[in-house]
Order: sequence, then structure tokens, then C-alpha cells
Amino acid sequence: MLRLLLLAFLCLNLYGVSNSDLLKRADTALKSGKKNTVFMAYNSYKNLYLKALIDGDTTLQKKALQGIVASGKKLHIDVGDYQKKLSKYQTHTVKPVIPPAKVVKPAVKPTNIKKKITMIRTHSITKAQWKGSELIITFSKKLDKNRVNYFKLEDAGKKNYRYIFDMHTSLLEKNYNLRKTPLKRVSLSQYKKNTVRLVIQSNTKLPLRFYYEGRKLVIKPGIHSNIHQNVALKPSPRHSKKTIVIDPGHGGKDSGAIGYQKRVYEKEVVFRISKELVAILRKKGHKVHLTRTRDRFVKLHKRTEYANKKQADIFISVHANAIPRSGKIHQAYGLETYFLSPANSKRAARVAAKENIRDMDSMNRFGKDSFLNFLNREKILASNKLAIDIQQGMLRMLRSHYAKVKDGGVRKGPFWVLVGAQMPAVLVEVGFVSNPMEAKRLANRTYQKRLAQGLAEGIERYFLKNP
Ligand SMILES: [Zn+2]
Repeated sequence: MLRLLLLAFLCLNLYGVSNSDLLKRADTALKSGKKNTVFMAYNSYKNLYLKALIDGDTTLQKKALQGIVASGKKLHIDVGDYQKKLSKYQTHTVKPVIPPAKVVKPAVKPTNIKKKITMIRTHSITKAQWKGSELIITFSKKLDKNRVNYFKLEDAGKKNYRYIFDMHTSLLEKNYNLRKTPLKRVSLSQYKKNTVRLVIQSNTKLPLRFYYEGRKLVIKPGIHSNIHQNVALKPSPRHSKKTIVIDPGHGGKDSGAIGYQKRVYEKEVVFRISKELVAILRKKGHKVHLTRTRDRFVKLHKRTEYANKKQADIFISVHANAIPRSGKIHQAYGLETYFLSPANSKRAARVAAKENIRDMDSMNRFGKDSFLNFLNREKILASNKLAIDIQQGMLRMLRSHYAKVKDGGVRKGPFWVLVGAQMPAVLVEVGFVSNPMEAKRLANRTYQKRLAQGLAEGIERYFLKNP
């Protein structure tokens, strides 16, 4: 039931309700004082903040940040990063004029407030060490991922890049020397009573990745300490070989969309296209992995977790579209490519609802812990670029062989399978299995191969432009 409520809440957030209504709703939820409701408010503010970033709405950005900070504090979530962002907005907008003669006293914080602190440490760190270029932090028991807050502070001007992990309800029992060249600083400290903070500081931007493995948090900052500095001066090839994760949608008990005359199943069509795509990309020398290698059910969040673990450079989820048989099946056809973002159209909302419905469990989970990644603006932009190249690649290839190839466009959508991916990620809807003409094409081997060829060319193009 809670899941249903949460789902309803999130859907309302994402689909079609005005921002000011969402803000009001979140403000009311924040005041309720109930933990679950405040948590919903927290996620809602984060959604609004992302929307505001995309729309360039600075007033909403500020209001959403205020909400994130207020609700985060109530929930004892570290919102320091957001607070910093918020202070920037405030200095930009408010410029008090202070006459030089006057001395302004700094506000003095009252010190006589007694704080009640409940000790809720549940993990202690038993080991922290480097293994080659990986930093491995071992906990006394399996780490609750919801308790880890990862964020980065990047200042290109000052060449100061900080990657920060706050591990809540954790205890550091001894000190570790984690120094590592070429990193400027690696520190692990008891930041607050219940929070251990890891800071990795570098002069250069790091392609940092991390994943969880049992009791371990494994961090790969992407440094190669054994390589001599001059290597970077060598001319590089046009683009290097990449790691790519292809995700054939659905599988097993989840057949996905069922096509015209029930003969074409989405899970089968997308699997065959994915297999073709893997073969083409491997021939080009890339490292390619599939999230499922046969007809089996895989939860949505497992798919991106897999991509994170493989440290993929890009993640591509392959799907096929459909409309109900009572709809205009002859008119609805064409190819669409989506990247993760709150929906901005009814169409995106409908497609997202269709793709998300099988995995309510993930939705609940992601409601909790994955909005950190969700808020990475840089990744959204990279995903948008990838989506454009892939869409163009498919259209070019198919149009050179077939008539009536419709461009459904590159769209934003709230797809849960893309939430949590640490790399640029897109979801491709290769066509409508509900459309008689397209269903026939999609079931055809030659068409599948050409589609895969088009996808591969789009991917290559993206890597050429974004090495
Ligand atoms: Zn699908």
C-alpha cells in the first residue's frame, strides 16, 4: 500500500501537474512532521530542483533547494552540498549595500541549546585499504545503501575536485593512512557522531565509479598510478575502445508489449536486436555486456547496477512500443529515443508508465536512494547527446532501405530503468509492435540487423564526438 501511495505521489509529481502546485504539495508534506511524508517532500523537492535546472528557472531552483535543505535536516540527511548551492543563490540575488563606516556584527549563534542525540550507529568500518587502483572500505555488516550519500564538488578554475561519500550510521574505529599518488588527499574521518566521511581530492577531474559488494564499498577513482605522466602527451587514437552495456527490455514472466495479432512479443524482438547489436559492437573492438543473455526476468534496478559494476561508458536499454488495440493502431508507429528526466509530455508519461509498471519494487527503492544520481546535470546532458546520435543513426540506416520510417523524436522521460546509472543512459523504443506494418518489420531478421547497425553507428558517432 505504501508503495502504491508512493507511486501515486511520484507519478503526480512527474506527470502534468504545475510546478507551483507541486511546490505547495511538498510544502504541506514537509509540515506534516511524519517521517514518510517528509521523505516524499524531500524527493519531491529534488524532482522540482531538477526540473528547474532543466528549465533554467532560478526562482524555482532556490525554492526547491530551500525545501531540500529543510526536509533533509528533518530526516537527518546530509544536505551540506545543497546548502552550499543555496547560499550561492542567495548571494546572487541579495546584495545588501553596507555603508563603510558601519561595522556589521556577525550573527552569534546561541550556544545554550541542548541537543538530544540518539545513537544509531549500525555499521562500523573494519578495514579500509587500497588494492591497486581500487579503494575498498569494508564494514562490519552489509552496508545499507540508503545510508550512503555520494556527491562531488568540482571547481575547474581552482583545479580542485572533491569526491565525497557520507556514510550515515557508521563508526570509524581507527585511523587509516590512505594516501595515494597522484591524488591530492584521501581522508576517512568521523565527520559527525553517526557519519563517517570519505573525501577524495584531486587536481584533475576523476572518472570516479563505485559499487557495493556484500560488506564492501569499492571505489574506483580511475587513476593509474603506475603509468608515467608523459603518456598523456602521446597522440591518442580517434576514440578508444569502450565498455557498453546493452539492456534488452523485459524478459521471462514480463513479456513487455504484446503485438498486433499477439505474434510479436516485445521481449523477443528487443532481445534479437540487442544480440545483433552486441555482435556488431564487439567486431568494432568494444567490450559489450548484456543485462540478460536469455529469456529471464531481471528487475529494473539490477540492470543499471550491473552496468555500474561493469563500469560501462554507456547504457542502452532496448524496448518496443505499443498502444492498446482499441487505439489508432495504424497511425501510431515510429522510433523514439528517451533519456532520463521528469516527463515533459503526455506521450513520454504514457510510455514511461508502460515501461515502469512491472517493477514497482524498484520504484519504491529508487524513491529512496537514487535521486542523487538523478540530479547529475552533466549526465543528463551527455545522455541527451547520446540519444540524439542514436536516434539519427537508426533513422539514417532504416531510411536507406525502407519507406515510411517515422522519426518519433528524442524525448525526456522518467524511466526507472535509467535511474541509478552512473553513465550516460538512454532507452530506445525501436517501433510499435501494435502497428501491423511495424510489427511485421520488427519480427523480420533483416530489419532487426539493419536496426542494430543503425544503433551501432549512432553509438560510434557519439564516441567520436565525446571521446
Ligand atoms: Zn518495454
